[in-house]
Amino acid sequence: MQARPSPRLQDCRQCDRQDPLAPLRERFALDRAEIYLNGNSLGPQPVAAAGRMRRAVEQEWGRDLGRSWTRAGWSDLPRRLGARIAPLIGAGPDEVVVADSTSVNLYKVLCAAAHRARQAGRLRILAEAGGFPSDLYIARSVAEQHGMTLSFIDPRPLAAQMPADAGIVLLSHVDYRSGRLRDLAADTAAAHAGGALAVWDLAHSAGVVPVALKAAGADYAVGCSYKYLNGGPGAPAFVWAHPRHVGQDRQPLWGWRGHADPYGYLPDYVPAADIGRYQAGMPPLLSMTALACGLDIYEQAEPLGGLAQLRRKSLALSGLFMACVDPHAQALGLTRLTPAEPAQRGAQLSYRVAQGGPAIVAALAGQGVLADCRAPDVLRFAFAPLYLRHEDAWHAAQRLLQVLRGGLWREPRFGAGAP
Ligand SMILES: *Cc1c(COP(=O)(O)O)cnc(C)c1O
Repeated sequence: MQARPSPRLQDCRQCDRQDPLAPLRERFALDRAEIYLNGNSLGPQPVAAAGRMRRAVEQEWGRDLGRSWTRAGWSDLPRRLGARIAPLIGAGPDEVVVADSTSVNLYKVLCAAAHRARQAGRLRILAEAGGFPSDLYIARSVAEQHGMTLSFIDPRPLAAQMPADAGIVLLSHVDYRSGRLRDLAADTAAAHAGGALAVWDLAHSAGVVPVALKAAGADYAVGCSYKYLNGGPGAPAFVWAHPRHVGQDRQPLWGWRGHADPYGYLPDYVPAADIGRYQAGMPPLLSMTALACGLDIYEQAEPLGGLAQLRRKSLALSGLFMACVDPHAQALGLTRLTPAEPAQRGAQLSYRVAQGGPAIVAALAGQGVLADCRAPDVLRFAFAPLYLRHEDAWHAAQRLLQVLRGGLWREPRFGAGAP
């Protein structure tokens, strides 16, 4: 194979000057001396959030109190935020609600799906081995409660390994550890062809990979808002159920917020006819206020090319990083886990290191590059296109090479590593 010339800094800067999304970087309160590649873990703070939160605390909570249910629009905030997330995941505006955490939402949709699967006599839940642990814990709990079995597939397309008796397939669109992107439409079709419902976790794709849930005919989806959606620490998650299901869905947490008439204080539980039934208790309104600031920036991206442009840029950034790092990977003990094909990678690149993962991350942080390490030894670099520049991808790659070549990470001060 012919060696390609390594990307040049001046070319990266030229890309940044031509980048239609470049102005959005100013919307984030990032330390300009750092390169933040942890957006897949906790997105950075929107500049507008501090003022907006101050208003929520001082005015809406401090002075208006209960009047804020109408004045500040608290009443329908979970649905309004859901409607704003909907275009990012290919859902209708009335089909998404923001509530609880991803794990809790997954529990709710898996129980609804289990109810259907059991009626069809299908008692197997399939999930990907090595998937996000919380998802697998929840799946195991649902399997146990519903008399089902949990079994595992590998990263290959689902069609190649679909058993005959599955009732539910639970998949991450982008794997949190490897960064591998699944073909949501193809795997959904394979699940349906095998008689199973398709449940998707969009934690690592919502906001950086265009998602077409409805076009694919998927059944259920959940996702996270504090990662690429930049909703802030503890921001609540979202949940989607296909409208062909939702009116008959039995989700297990019968709380007043999911009631058809929450203010009727009726003795019997009657679930809302739509996705609203996936709510249970009081929404975290302050966190939701912060999440709105994250979603504002996605709307500001719309006239600049929107999700399609964000995806193009994210692939360009990770492509740049690979072009800088990969020619030296073998010599430095790095193995890329994320496939290079654009159709098979999200916004994140993962590299396995022979040793010293946490110390390498700590040494990189000392050089102003924030990445993370997932057990056992996987370095993760997230290329969030709202605020990163091509130049940042280039510098991050050079600093990784320096840290590995110079053996900087072996210094005792990095020995404890990052948590
Ligand atoms: C981050 C993440 C979650 C988060 O779950 P919470 O319950 O909101 O903490 C869930 N699933 C996956 C795949 C994730 O990456």
